[in-house]
Amino acid sequence: MGRVSGKVAIVTGAAKGIGAASAKALAREGAKVVCSDFDEPGGEALAAEIQRLGGEAIFVAHDVTSEAQWENVVAVAEKRFGGLHIVVNNAGIAPEGLPIEELSLESWRHTLAVDLDSVFLGCKHAIRTIKKTTATGAKGSIINISSIMGLIGWPHTADYNAAKGGVRLLTKCAALECAGAGYDIRVNSIHPGYIDTPLVRNAIANNVGAEDGIGPNERMEMLVSLHPIGRLGVADEIANMVLFLASDESSFVTGAEMVVDGGYTAR
Ligand code: NDP
Repeated sequence: MGRVSGKVAIVTGAAKGIGAASAKALAREGAKVVCSDFDEPGGEALAAEIQRLGGEAIFVAHDVTSEAQWENVVAVAEKRFGGLHIVVNNAGIAPEGLPIEELSLESWRHTLAVDLDSVFLGCKHAIRTIKKTTATGAKGSIINISSIMGLIGWPHTADYNAAKGGVRLLTKCAALECAGAGYDIRVNSIHPGYIDTPLVRNAIANNVGAEDGIGPNERMEMLVSLHPIGRLGVADEIANMVLFLASDESSFVTGAEMVVDGGYTAR
């Protein structure tokens, strides 16, 4: 019996990084997983890998900023797997990496759309759909991937700081609404430190947010030094927290901010 056996999950941004690790962990522990992403080849490959490993997964192409596409994804989960218990709002993009005085309104709005509007839409359609499943006695869980950048400020990341800070409080509001309405849906945020994923590798390669004169190697060393544990995290370490929050092991945890950051914010 797996830790999430019998549950149906949607994981956004599942083609790679934290989303892929989370989808695999949930499937390994018995969930039926709808993997969504707008990277279609990557998402198809991930769903096929889960199936090869004996898990149940399908891929649905999904831009998380589109409400119509959210309606489609939850409908697919219900039709294919008979309900919905878990939504992991994971898809996101890195910040533009510019100081506020140089950041365009267009760029600000794009980051906010992908990193915050998407989580609002995800919570909205998750609550509407999961509450139908939990009305039959099952338990639901919504997991929003924020960041340590939703807890502390960092220069040149105003758009990302604002989006991830927004995810933190949106999560608490959703948790209170679900508890108040008696839906049996818990809602929590996860705040990862730097995790070695394509997002971080690309940001380092493109020197996003770097001070003048700092190259990629120095940037990586600097990021490592910010984590008292002495390394960046790996995606499975966030997936382990996703799994805990998705399972009924965390039945008294709601509205919480789970920090998984190798000690980054401890000092
Ligand atoms: P990755 O870039 O490795 O993976 C994110 C996935 O989401 C990609 O497949 C990406 O597609 C997809 N995606 C991006 N925009 C959209 C969209 N509009 N609709 C659907 N899918 C989309 O990121 P990570 O795994 O590193 O990050 C996952 C989450 O964790 C993000 O919310 C991120 O902010 C957060 N996080 C990550 C940290 C880290 O250090 N890695 C630290 C703290 C938080 P494509 O590649 O084609 O853009």
